[in-house]
Amino acid sequence: MQIFTQIEEVRRFRNLPEQAEKSLGFVPTMGALHEGHLALVRCAKSENKRVAISIFVNPIQFNNPEDLRLYPRTLERDLEMLGSVLEDDDFVFAPEAEEMYPDSRHQLYDFGTLEKSMEGLHRPGHFNGVGVVVDRLFRIVEPDRAYFGEKDYQQLAIIRRLVEIEKHGVTIVPCPIIRENDGLAMSSRNVRLSIENRRNAPRLYSLLQETRQRIQEGADLRPVQQQLTHSIDRIPGFKTDYVCFADEATLEPLNFATNRPFRCFIAVNAGDVRLIDNLPMY
Ligand code: AMP
Repeated sequence: MQIFTQIEEVRRFRNLPEQAEKSLGFVPTMGALHEGHLALVRCAKSENKRVAISIFVNPIQFNNPEDLRLYPRTLERDLEMLGSVLEDDDFVFAPEAEEMYPDSRHQLYDFGTLEKSMEGLHRPGHFNGVGVVVDRLFRIVEPDRAYFGEKDYQQLAIIRRLVEIEKHGVTIVPCPIIRENDGLAMSSRNVRLSIENRRNAPRLYSLLQETRQRIQEGADLRPVQQQLTHSIDRIPGFKTDYVCFADEATLEPLNFATNRPFRCFIAVNAGDVRLIDNLPMY
């Protein structure tokens, strides 16, 4: 695998005559890689002749400076992990912030209702930062397909909208949430959980499963939402940021069940670590 830190290096390699014809799959990440990321990489490899992975902790998508400062950075280990999956034609792009943002002028996006709920509401500026970086990465890497996890389900919808707004010629491929054996959704932030919070964190998934069970039995959304919030807040050290039922396509919050597919989305502070998860309710 090739490792690049400069935009020009990526462009040159991407457009080499022997490379340019081969389909290119792209997996954008912020590093501190785990099996969830590798699942995306494997999927990209199975559907493309070559793959690119970016590793960039994007400062402008962090609304909380402490979260940015404490975000795990493990580049050497990441490259080692990727070394076992990637081949000669594949590359990693790991730029410094100055390379991505030579100046501080950024595009302002309007993602409409997609950004009016959940992460968009609770993390001001977050999705604009995501939009700016993914737009730049798409222009640099020019992938045929790009792979995003359903772990960040709202982000996936935002990226699809970004592709429409910017008319990028890339196919967005969603990938299912990868979980630890105990059910906790894999996340780079999990390593920051205290021992006790890590022990309790799988409760979130079991509570989501119990929620689905109740919804399928016909329970009303409002009381189930209240009950779920209450159950999470009763876990020592855990505090809900939001618990939301939302339409899968529009991401509009729902107060009543509909025939259209919807999911339950949660964001929870476990100590100073923010965890998100979601589960289809069908
Ligand atoms: P991140 O490095 O957290 O920005 O994530 C990079 C990509 O990996 C995003 O598309 C995430 O949705 C995806 N991802 C992160 N964790 C998981 C997971 N547990 N399962 C599936 N995809 C994931």
